[in-house]
Amino acid sequence: MYDILIKNGQILNGTGSPAIRAEVAVKDGKIAKIARHIPDDAKTVIDAAGKVVTPGFIDSHSHADSTVKEHPEQIEKVEQGITTSVAGQCGGSVCGADAAEFLDAYRGSKLGANMAMLIGHGTLRRAVIGTANREPTPEELEKMKAMMRSAMEHGALGVSFGFIYAPGCFAKTPEAIEIAKVVGEYHGIAAIHLRSEAAQLVRSVQEFITIVRESGVRGVISHHKAAGREENWGKVHTTLRMIDQANAEGLELFADVYPYNAASTGFSSAFIPTEWRDGGKESVLKNANDPEMVAQIKEAYYAKYQDMSWLMAVRCPGCEEFNGMMVPEIAEKLGVDEFEAAMEITRRTGDRALGVFFSICEEDVETVMAHPRVMICTDSGVKTRPGYHPRLRGSFPRTLGRYVRERKVTSLPEMIRKMTAMPAAVYGFKNKGLLWEGFDADICIFDPDKIIDRATFVDPDQRAEGLDYVIVGGKIAAVNAVATGELGGTMLYRDV
Ligand SMILES: [Zn+2]
Repeated sequence: MYDILIKNGQILNGTGSPAIRAEVAVKDGKIAKIARHIPDDAKTVIDAAGKVVTPGFIDSHSHADSTVKEHPEQIEKVEQGITTSVAGQCGGSVCGADAAEFLDAYRGSKLGANMAMLIGHGTLRRAVIGTANREPTPEELEKMKAMMRSAMEHGALGVSFGFIYAPGCFAKTPEAIEIAKVVGEYHGIAAIHLRSEAAQLVRSVQEFITIVRESGVRGVISHHKAAGREENWGKVHTTLRMIDQANAEGLELFADVYPYNAASTGFSSAFIPTEWRDGGKESVLKNANDPEMVAQIKEAYYAKYQDMSWLMAVRCPGCEEFNGMMVPEIAEKLGVDEFEAAMEITRRTGDRALGVFFSICEEDVETVMAHPRVMICTDSGVKTRPGYHPRLRGSFPRTLGRYVRERKVTSLPEMIRKMTAMPAAVYGFKNKGLLWEGFDADICIFDPDKIIDRATFVDPDQRAEGLDYVIVGGKIAAVNAVATGELGGTMLYRDV
């Protein structure tokens, strides 16, 4: 008797080939049988008529490690079809010097979705030389390399660089090459948050290609985009060509992307530069209430930008009527100019409003997403807090609904490959990413005509629609995008 039998569905097996009609039987956490017809002998029978059955989605870029201790159930992952996530990204991981201890402690642990770890270079650097802006001494570099080696020996997949954040940004290219060489000895992964995703984007990709070439790692460019404003948009055509050339040269270089054209963080950070905010909210508010300072900040802003049409206010405590409004709309409502409107929101909310920056061009999102070496990611953890970026809940259903069904960026079988078999191969998950007999029973069942994200910048907690079942390790982890609480996942380790 099987544990689960999935009948009448169309199978997309993850390879990118077209759907076939077949039935899938699951037993003891594995895919026991795939055939045209399997007799009805199972504890649970799922009728998948009109649905597609695919491997579980793999989140190529996750920050779920930071809260895995408090939130092992991984609700926001499984409720959007993610059965495995690659965490420890952007140069910051929950473990560094203690990676061996952390990884050993999670062996055999029960999680709602599987997780694998990269080790943050910034985390290692902080452990050895703190936040100092200088190069490491030879001894310090050896120490960092030894920590990296220990993490690899205990099953880490590789390293993540966060070259835009302190202290990772203080590292020069040769330091990164030295760390990546250790990872390369294990044929591991180096993922990178580039030094610049805006004006210096092309140069930053070039730097990473050098790191990959000199160290022998497989490289992943994280959440790839051309940020900033119009002057940077379209640069992804150049960077994707660079990725193609690197692969033609024999390097292994990939990227991932989240399906949104906006980032989100504190509202005032969009137009009040760092030099006016070094005392936090207090100095922001002091400056916002000083007409002389406002004039200076305004001048600095318009030296760089034309207008404020790309900025939305969300979560405005005390003046909720502005939630979800673009700055030009707020200006009209208040009868003041755009800059004064933005300042007024800052004052009225005590600088507690969140901002959404439409700083990415949607055409670029589509261009990146369609590239055969690009995987899909959330760039999110699992800790829900109000006002968070909707990608936390919506990334995978949005990719399938908005970008595959509505905008036809690529075919459904190809997008499923980019969400499953491809990341499984890149990160070395040997029994995942394919619907194949003997593989782990990580499975999604959804309606390709209905699947869509409902989370928005104003209401980021809305669950997806059209996602019927998510199965992790042979256990039903979510039904209609509501987690069941089953913990079918575990920590995954590099195959030694
Ligand atoms: Zn990042």
